[in-house]
Amino acid sequence: MESRREKNPMTEEESDGLIAARRIQRLSLHLSPSLTPSPSLPLVQTETCSARSKKLDVNGEALSLYMRGKHIDIQEKIFDFFNSRPDLQTPIEISKDDHRELCMNQLIGLVREAGVRPFRYVADDPEKYFAIMEAVGSVDMSLGIKMGVQYSLWGGSVINLGTKKHRDKYFDGIDNLDYTGCFAMTELHHGSNVQGLQTTATFDPLKDEFVIDTPNDGAIKWWIGNAAVHGKFATVFARLILPTHDSKGVSDMGVHAFIVPIRDMKTHQTLPGVEIQDCGHKVGLNGVDNGALRFRSVRIPRDNLLNRFGDVSRDGTYTSSLPTINKRFGATLGELVGGRVGLAYASVGVLKISATIAIRYSLLRQQFGPPKQPEVSILDYQSQQHKLMPMLASTYAYHFATLYLVEKYSEMKKTHDEQLVADVHALSAGLKSYVTSYTAKALSVCREACGGHGYAAVNRFGSLRNDHDIFQTFEGDNTVLLQQVAADLLKRYKEKFQGGTLTVTWSYLRESMNTYLSQPNPVTARWEGEDHLRDPKFQLDAFRYRTSRLLQNVAARLQKHSKTLGGFGAWNRCLNHLLTLAESHIETVILAKFIEAVKNCPDPSAKAALKLACDLYALDRIWKDIGTYRNVDYVAPNKAKAIHKLTEYLSFQVRNVAKELVDAFELPDHVTRAPIAMQSDAYSQYTQVVGF
Ligand SMILES: Cc1cc2nc3c(=O)[nH]c(=O)nc-3n(C[C@H](O)[C@H](O)[C@H](O)COP(=O)(O)OP(=O)(O)OC[C@H]3O[C@@H](n4cnc5c(N)ncnc54)[C@H](O)[C@@H]3O)c2cc1C
Repeated sequence: MESRREKNPMTEEESDGLIAARRIQRLSLHLSPSLTPSPSLPLVQTETCSARSKKLDVNGEALSLYMRGKHIDIQEKIFDFFNSRPDLQTPIEISKDDHRELCMNQLIGLVREAGVRPFRYVADDPEKYFAIMEAVGSVDMSLGIKMGVQYSLWGGSVINLGTKKHRDKYFDGIDNLDYTGCFAMTELHHGSNVQGLQTTATFDPLKDEFVIDTPNDGAIKWWIGNAAVHGKFATVFARLILPTHDSKGVSDMGVHAFIVPIRDMKTHQTLPGVEIQDCGHKVGLNGVDNGALRFRSVRIPRDNLLNRFGDVSRDGTYTSSLPTINKRFGATLGELVGGRVGLAYASVGVLKISATIAIRYSLLRQQFGPPKQPEVSILDYQSQQHKLMPMLASTYAYHFATLYLVEKYSEMKKTHDEQLVADVHALSAGLKSYVTSYTAKALSVCREACGGHGYAAVNRFGSLRNDHDIFQTFEGDNTVLLQQVAADLLKRYKEKFQGGTLTVTWSYLRESMNTYLSQPNPVTARWEGEDHLRDPKFQLDAFRYRTSRLLQNVAARLQKHSKTLGGFGAWNRCLNHLLTLAESHIETVILAKFIEAVKNCPDPSAKAALKLACDLYALDRIWKDIGTYRNVDYVAPNKAKAIHKLTEYLSFQVRNVAKELVDAFELPDHVTRAPIAMQSDAYSQYTQVVGF
């Protein structure tokens, strides 16, 4: 498909001048919708896009319906409950200690008064669990994390790493909050490198008990949520030490998980041998009581070993269905990916909130304008569109991608299919890191996009930004997780040459080896018509091409460097390249899911709005990485220019339906707690807050 513009070339200045004039005209059209375009000034790129000259009339209800999760009912129940309980709403100013108590009371209220029982869904209906987490997190992020610690981390470790005896004994207490608990993995000296943990659990065959010890200060469990104040139990990750009859006397079986009571069930006093300190005031999430735990010969029954992947018999014999320490460790961590899935999902929730606040405010806020004319909405400035419209498109993209992740995770929990486990592991690592890093940056952009009023605490950016920031680190540091994605891609790349299979998410790599690595097509590299640039095939091909190339190159570089530097050194030498590869792959998966979501949308107007957002997402990403495409002539210079222009134009088009796109998130109850996001009445809401 060839662009008509190729047959009717224009100088760059002519073209830019015309576009500027058209843009001003469109701007005034938007401000006074009754005006009709002057026939002497054609709309932007009418040659190729006459159909898009009008503002899209979006059926908001249909779009909301399509976006709405299956579990909107339980989310509404949660919002209604908190709306009806002002005593359980978090005030803007609150001390750490009060916040922690409030957060615990919020959780108790949710479970015991509103009757929402998240734990029941952790294993059996994860989609519902994540929907609850999203709603609860939007009430107060500390509450969302506290709930995650109790049910997903502490509760999840018991049911996923333990066996029936553990489920029978602990399920009800965890569910009804009698058994509050912690997940104690991280130590002062080891966070990301979990295999380096030093806490020990030594089996004592005489008493049929394990003895838990913190061998040195570096092994103190650190940052443990629920430990400082509320937790009664902890799942403690420790090296299992078994006595042997050889000269060594003991054998280190690797890291295992153990249930360790830390406070008395009745008095709540710290138990003998356990020392607990408070990790103190944090940058955010101060409703969560993070603490440090030290163990001095704390004895627990043998039954407290969470023994799904490895067990110790009465006589101290070790058994496991998995042959090596590494495999057992992998299986243990594999069961914990639910936390990552939850964080990716919750991070999209935060992005929806902050984008909604910033966009609603930008629609309402007016600054400057043409002489003697009303001031214009700040969202009509190209720069503001540039900040916020690709972000809105990305929010949609991540929404569909994380829904897919949750779906796959739920399927994995049901089938335990090995390929799916591997797929979900890499996908959750990739999406968690990619989305949380994006949201963290977006929060700053949104704050700045709202000017000074974005800085008022009541408008939420401060708490959202501070609370969300650590999403990039806990449940796996983003840089470390992206490396797992890269390692997985390389593994599959290698397997491919050994005749292995590729799972659905990765199947494009099969073609990539054959198609994408051939020389870029010099003809398509020049196609620049709108139809071509908005064709999902072009967009996906471009993303896939980039990933495949990065993969091919890094594989060769690793091979070359490993000869002189060894495996570890070569990996480090190629680290930035590997991270780029992982991000490129995740972007490819995200785009594929977005394209699919557009295709499946039943309402034509909602579909058209989604298509705009999807095209903007794709072209904006290609434009941001245009150097890569230009370097290898995948995109010719004129095509690069066309991509840039179309991206700007799509930003403008998305701006025209921004209100509908934002409204479809259906966030009114809690988002409007930010006065600047109140569409109709922002200033009076805001002035009331400061006391006028
Ligand atoms: C508020 C909060 C709550 C938490 N809750 C819990 C909890 O309930 N239970 C629990 O067990 N833990 C908890 N944690 C701990 C958390 O999981 C760890 O902080 C996290 O895993 C990162 O470990 P680290 O802090 O040791 O960072 P490090 O691993 O020391 O990382 C520091 C920096 O080094 C970089 N780095 C490290 N390794 C590599 C590498 N191989 N390649 C490149 N760069 C690298 C990282 O990217 C990072 O920038 C919590 C932490 C916080 C702050």
